[in-house]
Amino acid sequence: MTTTGPEALIDQAALRHNLCAVRRFAPGSRVWAVIKADAYGHGLLQAADALADADGFAVARVKEAVALREAGVARGILVLEGANFADELEVAGQHQLELAVHHHSQIELLHRHGSARALRLWIKVDTGMHRLGLTPEAAGAALRQLHEMGPRVEVVGLMTHLANADDPADPLSREQCGRLLALCSGLGLPLSIGNSAGLIAIPEARSAWVRPGIMLYGASPLQGRSAASLGLRSVMTLKTRLIAIQQLQRGDRIGYSGTYTCPEEMPVGVAAIGYGDGYPRHARQGTPVLVAGGRVPLIGRVSMDMIHLDLRPAPATAIGDEVVLWGDGLPADEIAEAAGTIAYDLFCAVTARVPRLYSTRTGSS
Ligand SMILES: *Cc1c(COP(=O)(O)O)cnc(C)c1O
Repeated sequence: MTTTGPEALIDQAALRHNLCAVRRFAPGSRVWAVIKADAYGHGLLQAADALADADGFAVARVKEAVALREAGVARGILVLEGANFADELEVAGQHQLELAVHHHSQIELLHRHGSARALRLWIKVDTGMHRLGLTPEAAGAALRQLHEMGPRVEVVGLMTHLANADDPADPLSREQCGRLLALCSGLGLPLSIGNSAGLIAIPEARSAWVRPGIMLYGASPLQGRSAASLGLRSVMTLKTRLIAIQQLQRGDRIGYSGTYTCPEEMPVGVAAIGYGDGYPRHARQGTPVLVAGGRVPLIGRVSMDMIHLDLRPAPATAIGDEVVLWGDGLPADEIAEAAGTIAYDLFCAVTARVPRLYSTRTGSS
């Protein structure tokens, strides 16, 4: 049945293809596939399924890791924000989650509550991003404190997160890597540094474990580089249908606040998608949209459930025709640019109203 409103087609074969791309960039690294935030809006369990060849998974929160365990995922799961409350420590032990330790409060929590089961911990070091992490000076003391807690608490590695890896020319990334390497020398612990941008652009970030997210979903992590040029395939195609075509006159103003005025008599299409579905309200006039395979410009304000399209470049279109907002044939990075944001935000913003349809059809790597 064809119904009114958008659908997000998720190509699980493209996910697998992009994991192979990760392996090509960082052949010596083990890979935690980052599937936090419902796999960047693609569906947590379906992404985990498609990415079963990863060496482990990384999520932001304990809750997300528990959802994976309850679905039967048995491999290593790293929780990037770690356990911040006693209940989470308990659950993390039960489910054998690996936890980032990013703050002294988490060490105190461990001290107060201990752990009934063995816990595997990654010390997260703030090497320059100043979001989460112990300073390099505090990390040494933390290691000793954790070591004194006995055999049930095991520090298994050191990690850090790069702030500006999307710009390979920024010297901060190499400085950050250098600070972690200096700390690690003599400790013999494995490191985890690279996110997508880091593992592609910064050789020092291809550490024992890497943590790619966005590149798995087929968007480019690097400023000024297309996903296609990195060998990545788009995973999500967001599409809907035309539900009206109006023949409007020169001078007619369109949509809320009438921000677009027709320069001549012209066909204007209305497609069933809006910010209530997660299409960005800030998409600029002229943002490209595919109608029946050809590009047409968005015009007027994005409404909650609808957008307007200038159909002059596609005069043969009809009500019911398919409209693609991003994905196959229209890179999400390009739409993100036109909306003043990043593809991460576009993917995560697709709302629960939009059904995700999964396919493995389109070949493999
Ligand atoms: C989200 C996240 C990643 C993945 O980053 P991408 O840019 O999507 O590759 C890696 N590490 C940490 C700590 C993160 O929070």
